Amino acid sequence: MDDCLFCRIREGKIPAEKVHEDELVFAIKDINPQAPTHLLIIPHKHQETLMELETADRETIGTVFTVAGKLARERGLDKSGFRVVANCGSGAGQSVWHIHFHLLGGRGMKWPPG
Ligand code: 5GP
Ligand code: ZN
Repeated sequence: MDDCLFCRIREGKIPAEKVHEDELVFAIKDINPQAPTHLLIIPHKHQETLMELETADRETIGTVFTVAGKLARERGLDKSGFRVVANCGSGAGQSVWHIHFHLLGGRGMKWPPG
């Protein structure tokens, strides 16, 4: 996907600070962090929104959450708490049209999110 930011980052055509990579997902630091820790966990497979997920994607989405736990634990966030969130659609604030999950931590979190 030539015009997709996260596909271009995956291919190394746009630089990003990678903190994890396996055969299904990779993770980078968000360029505009909204918390002391703000990472993006991104499936390699290009799908625009969560609405495109199929049964065959279960392993990938499961991996997102095990990777989130690993990255959180490495940063001590298992003790202080953290949030994993995916915005689906522009009404929810999605701005990059390749599925990704935000991992946020290192500060207090309010509920409900804005
Ligand atoms: P969304 O708004 O789609 O839920 O999240 C997109 C995220 O991508 C935002 O938090 C934004 O800061 C981040 N982002 C946008 N452009 C870049 C970039 O070029 N590099 C990185 N590392 N993050 C980006
Ligand atoms: Zn993409």
